Amino acid sequence: SAADDLARSEALSPNDLGAFWMPFTPNRSFKKNPRLIARAKDMYYYTPDGRAVMDGTAGLWCCNAGHAREPIVKAIQRQAADLDFAPTFQFAHPQAFTLATELALMAPEGLEHVFFANSGSEGVDTALKIALAYHNVTGNGSRTRLIGRERGYHGVGFGGISVGGIVTNRKHYGGLLGGVDHLPHTYDREKQAFTIGEPEWGGHLADELERIVALHDASTIAAVIVEPMAGSTGVLPAPKGYLKRLREICDKHGILLIFDEVITAFGRLGYATAAERYGVTPDIMTFAKGVTSGTVPMGGVIVSDRIHDAFMKGPDHAIELFHGYTYTAHPLAVAAGLATLEVYRGEGLFERAREFEAHFAEAAMSLKGLPVVADIRVVGLAAAVDLHPRQGAPGALGYEVMERAFHHHDIMVRVTADTIALSPPLIVKPSEIDALFETLKRLLGEF
Ligand code: PLP
Repeated sequence: SAADDLARSEALSPNDLGAFWMPFTPNRSFKKNPRLIARAKDMYYYTPDGRAVMDGTAGLWCCNAGHAREPIVKAIQRQAADLDFAPTFQFAHPQAFTLATELALMAPEGLEHVFFANSGSEGVDTALKIALAYHNVTGNGSRTRLIGRERGYHGVGFGGISVGGIVTNRKHYGGLLGGVDHLPHTYDREKQAFTIGEPEWGGHLADELERIVALHDASTIAAVIVEPMAGSTGVLPAPKGYLKRLREICDKHGILLIFDEVITAFGRLGYATAAERYGVTPDIMTFAKGVTSGTVPMGGVIVSDRIHDAFMKGPDHAIELFHGYTYTAHPLAVAAGLATLEVYRGEGLFERAREFEAHFAEAAMSLKGLPVVADIRVVGLAAAVDLHPRQGAPGALGYEVMERAFHHHDIMVRVTADTIALSPPLIVKPSEIDALFETLKRLLGEF
């Protein structure tokens, strides 16, 4: 009836925040005092009433080219008009091949083939499935074990949370994948506090992989997955020598090495990929976020010839990898990706991140000495500031800092528990880096 319709439209009116169950958000607290964002341009978000808020986090580590960049916007608009959707199961649109080629060229030599998904989580699932299937098609079907790392974040799929090392994920969702083990994380405050870049201490922790191999036997292990820099659990850069050592141990035992580069690819560490920064090439690399500068969802994996070619056998009409998403290589995402890579190249944004890394580090370290600050880590254009948690209320201080930053200090920061993370768009100017940390310093001084 009309009355029902009216009641329903009122219930769903824009002022009612109830219907949207928000992800990774304390919903009740948010809805009491919402942080709404209506618009964005370059380095800034704008609230519905027009207040500018500096984006200190590149959205969620994704808008590396800054917001609403004209060439990217135009490319998406054009694409929506020209070709809204085309299946990539059994058909394809030409630009998908162009983007795959560009990504393969951007990745370290040896990573040549791209499988597209729509998010980091799907990229991780894709990587794990390819690793398992690779061993299967090469006659090593007993290699089914996956090794992750404590404090690893690999998205929210069942594969990702199984190899990830996030306690709440592991606690809430039951048994997860069997046959998973974990390396220890690489953070030790006593040995690493206030380190700029890769810590001296901790490289030896890669040798824990030898212990895991000795426990399970190499013939049962398919792959090791790590983030070259753990982003979501607080900017933990790989200790010096760590990734190289992991590579050596994996090679020795026939184990595939997967880098989850969902955050680190596309310039965050001053290079196209973390693999390039560290001179260590994995067998499989995931990507997402920065590939479209956050504009249209996209993720995926880049794999070596060896892995790809192992599948290209059997009858010609047979599907080689039984995997894919309706929106794999969605035309809008592909158009956004091509335009984004062009902006990165044209403006030299990866090099820019490298150029300003030292300045960014110095600005971040200026918070050292504030009573609430327990540690600061920084690498590339990423920084984390650990706060001393309030007694008996872990996460409360971090949440309040984030709220106050947005409402009263016009900056967006990201917090996970009592750690503040900063990862501005790579277009950030030195003066904006200074402003970001000066503001944060003033804000933290209030506690
Ligand atoms: N892997 C890593 C390393 C990430 O940092 C993230 C997200 O932050 C993901 C995977 C999951 O990506 P998404 O949220 O796009 O599924």
